[in-house]
Amino acid sequence: MQTAPAVRKNLFVLALDFGGSKLAAALVEPRRGRIIAKTRQERLPSANAQQSLEQMIALGRDVLQDGQTPSSALLRLGVSFGGPLSRDRRCVLRSMHVPDWESFPLAERLETAFGCPAFMDNDANAAALGEWRFGAGRGLDSLLYIQVSTGIGAGIIVHRQLLRGAGLAGEFGHMTVAPDGPLCVCGKRGCVEGFAAGWALARDGRTALVNALLDSPLRKLCGDVPERLDARLVCEAARQGDPIANAILDRAAQALGMALANAVVLLDPQAVVIGGGVSRSQDILATRLTAAVSEFLPPMFQGRCPLMFSQLGGDETLLGAALLDS
Ligand SMILES: [Zn+2]
Repeated sequence: MQTAPAVRKNLFVLALDFGGSKLAAALVEPRRGRIIAKTRQERLPSANAQQSLEQMIALGRDVLQDGQTPSSALLRLGVSFGGPLSRDRRCVLRSMHVPDWESFPLAERLETAFGCPAFMDNDANAAALGEWRFGAGRGLDSLLYIQVSTGIGAGIIVHRQLLRGAGLAGEFGHMTVAPDGPLCVCGKRGCVEGFAAGWALARDGRTALVNALLDSPLRKLCGDVPERLDARLVCEAARQGDPIANAILDRAAQALGMALANAVVLLDPQAVVIGGGVSRSQDILATRLTAAVSEFLPPMFQGRCPLMFSQLGGDETLLGAALLDS
């Protein structure tokens, strides 16, 4: 936990991030993008919406205490949620990864708990705002931010504003890249998320264990227990030269590269920034992803749009949530 004293009134935002597997809270000074106190916890695996809310409220109170800031001194709450929201961004539509969130009035519940206004957006939009204002996308007019973590989403900045469409713009993870591809959590086949999200890499790693050699990194890293194999370990096995893990990442990069190239052709952004947990394996993803994007871009787009990785070390979602004010 990081701490530093906060004294002036109404300068601070409590930022809350409901991720697919983790909950995080931070006290943020939004104008400068300064995090005063921060904490993160694994979401309790069997928790429903109400229990996750209670866990988050406790985290938020911890952070306020660490930052020596009463909730009465908060400017607002900024909330990132890992799934689609209602059009007015007051309620959760659903979570693809956690049951029981359908129509949950999350903004209202948090306002009651902390006594100040709450503004919400999905995690990819929040992270895109953070990265555009304080990270790799600083100063740009347009940016395509792709969040690759438990799921995959996008935040699109056009003319220095988030593009929300009628509410669901940026559901990039569910763009089809192979009509007969694997089944996705959304119920459809062949989504980019079904190849390249954290859950898909874990699934492919577990399936491949059957054919992995006894002394392979894939087998050793999980102690031969399939349930322990997650996306991070698949990336680590690839790093250690495991051919099966490398084949899984090649397939993921192909799918992600195809969807990214299509999005670049549609939007012509000044840059693409990749963030989220899976993107922390930039060392083994960057080269194959750049090659895949290039493979699927038409000639007039070649070399036009730089592909970058997040510069905010995992804080982009909390920093972006702190900027939400409408
Ligand atoms: Zn899908």
